Amino acid sequence: MHYFYHDFCFMSQNLLHTSLLYLKGIGEKKAKILQKELQLSTYEDLLYYVPFRYVDRSSFYSIKDLQPTAAEVQIKGKISFLEEIEQKKGKRLVAKFHDETGTIDLVFFQGIQWLKDSIPMQKEVIVFGKITQFGTTFNMVHPEIELVENYKQSLSFHPVYSLTETCQKYFINQKFMRKAMYEVFQQIFHHIHENLSTEIIKQYDVMERKKAFYTIHFPANVQELHQAEKRLKFEELFYFQLSFGLKKMDRINKFLSFPMEKIGKHFLSFYEHNLPFELTNAQKKVIKEIRNDLRKNSQMNRLLQGDVGSGKTVVALLSMLIVKDNGYQSCLVAPTEILAIQHYNSIVELLEHSDVKVTLLTGSTTQAQRSLLLAELEQGIIDILVGTHAIFEPNVQFKNIGFAVIDEQHRFGVAQRSVLWRKNTITPHVLVMTATPIPRTLAMTYYSDLEVSVIDELPAGRIPIQTIHKKNEDRLALFGFLKREIQQGKQMYIVYPIIKESASLDLNALIEGYDAMLSYFPEPEYAISVVHGKLNSKDKDFEMQRFVRGETQIMVATTVIEVGVNVPNASVMVIENAERFGLSQLHQLRGRVGRGNAQSYCILMTKDYISDDAKTRIQTMCSTNDGFRISEVDLELRGPGDLLGTQQSGIANLKIANITKDKEYIVATKHAVDILLQKDSTLLLPENKMIREFFLQNHKEKISWGRIS
Ligand code: ADP
Ligand code: MG
Repeated sequence: MHYFYHDFCFMSQNLLHTSLLYLKGIGEKKAKILQKELQLSTYEDLLYYVPFRYVDRSSFYSIKDLQPTAAEVQIKGKISFLEEIEQKKGKRLVAKFHDETGTIDLVFFQGIQWLKDSIPMQKEVIVFGKITQFGTTFNMVHPEIELVENYKQSLSFHPVYSLTETCQKYFINQKFMRKAMYEVFQQIFHHIHENLSTEIIKQYDVMERKKAFYTIHFPANVQELHQAEKRLKFEELFYFQLSFGLKKMDRINKFLSFPMEKIGKHFLSFYEHNLPFELTNAQKKVIKEIRNDLRKNSQMNRLLQGDVGSGKTVVALLSMLIVKDNGYQSCLVAPTEILAIQHYNSIVELLEHSDVKVTLLTGSTTQAQRSLLLAELEQGIIDILVGTHAIFEPNVQFKNIGFAVIDEQHRFGVAQRSVLWRKNTITPHVLVMTATPIPRTLAMTYYSDLEVSVIDELPAGRIPIQTIHKKNEDRLALFGFLKREIQQGKQMYIVYPIIKESASLDLNALIEGYDAMLSYFPEPEYAISVVHGKLNSKDKDFEMQRFVRGETQIMVATTVIEVGVNVPNASVMVIENAERFGLSQLHQLRGRVGRGNAQSYCILMTKDYISDDAKTRIQTMCSTNDGFRISEVDLELRGPGDLLGTQQSGIANLKIANITKDKEYIVATKHAVDILLQKDSTLLLPENKMIREFFLQNHKEKISWGRIS
């Protein structure tokens, strides 16, 4: 029986992988074009080549039955009300349309003047278009509108495949595609096997697999299409999640670490007597999560996300105190020397009343200091080592390191997390801190083999930064404003984009800007620092330090200041050519101000005409300080491939689901996979066998099943 099943699967796989050359109606020429133009070469490829839209003129829909799908539908009803709405982005015209069962909005962005006069009011009309959902209301954007008396019935519901011009030239048109799909189903319909367990199908109410594939190509109506779309997205995301879930299981089983059960006197006395402020609820929650991880003997691999200023350092410190109480050493690695020094200073300050020994190691540590430090580290005298990547060097040996905190600040440095820590016989627990929030959908997919903690709350009493968009013509007013801030003792940053440090054009802009500032803010009344990548690091440091000490009021700089400067007295961040910055960079730069107790401002200077995307970025910045919200917009604008870097843009492999649009299914499949692996981490239970088989056939990533099976 067992044997038979394997053979059977093998046969089905073979059939699915048959070349399209063997399909009725496809000769060598067409097969070649399909391969070249649409990357379709097997039966299975065709199966997965889902229509990008559908035209449904076979029947009329009732508003109450509508569902957002890829289909364009028609509805009979009346338009009762027109409203023109002014937005920042431009005007839109909204028409209320109703039938006996409900109301939807017809939305127009173009041709508003003409439409206002020509839309037939209170007459029987048929509207035709795609339904989208906006909050709880359904919209139809730019529908076709026709009077019922002019309407000609045409019976059809058909899929529309995306094709290229070359395809058309070789008669690979919509009709051909429908025929090819039909032929493929003739051959393989009975070989499309279910790959989700009965339990999952029931619990998440998803359509049978065979039927879903058939329906997506030949839907009978919109309701069925919606079910088919749901099933195929669910399935795709489910296996996507499963691969991450299995990786995580693999890691948990492979990498053991030190169980730290104890909550001891260093943690408690600091927590009870020396915390200079009440922790936010978010901080408390995260500390609890970390504490639970540290207790286990499997390695913690946790990502801590929290906006700039959300208080990650103290969380790291409290965790390191737990580690100390259990008899282990910790280290904290920062991306730059300035940041390392800042961390070191704030930790030393916080631990003023404690006998915990903290030491700093950077590239500038002198040879003499270094040999002492290395000796103390090996003897276990040092409890916490703060530093730069210098800590990674092989001659830095701990007595028994149990915990490493890596402050990535603004990068998705998660790739580095796999850098194995060979500083102890067993891998230490790892906490990676980042100030660039990752959108929830990505956190639930790409990073779901990590644990993720989120600090989503700023300490009380912070005054939100005001962000304002200005253009060149406002420059004089801007300078006046800056002068008033300086009179009140404030400092400010003026940042210029340098896309490539070598681009002399960009550098010229900065130098010109600097010259302009010099003439408006003359010495000796004012003092200006200037910092850019062409300066050697000594000069750079010197200029930075002058600003940090308050000897200069204005810092003209490139994005080199993006991380690592902490000047609470700085109250204004001016970003020149803001249209050229990405959202996460703008957000990071803005995070340089608002660190003190005064009202701070971020001023985004742009040229007059900027692209739509740039407009969206600027508007987003002006409307929110919430890093998570910003990261969501960033994801929508750039797509996951760009956001994650080419390295991880395996996102291109998602054929049906969409990471930015299918949140609902991402949440559902994550849940399904978590439950599944909790119950059956090896997928060896008979009822999960088909999941295991399908996964093995279709996912080439190396999961060491040896470990978990
Ligand atoms: P980030 O998350 O950007 O690393 P920090 O840890 O540097 O933030 O904290 C920013 C500032 O907020 C520091 O001055 C810190 O002492 C302070 N801080 C942290 N947590 C709290 C809190 N719960 N209440 C008040 N201030 C806090
Ligand atoms: Mg920090």
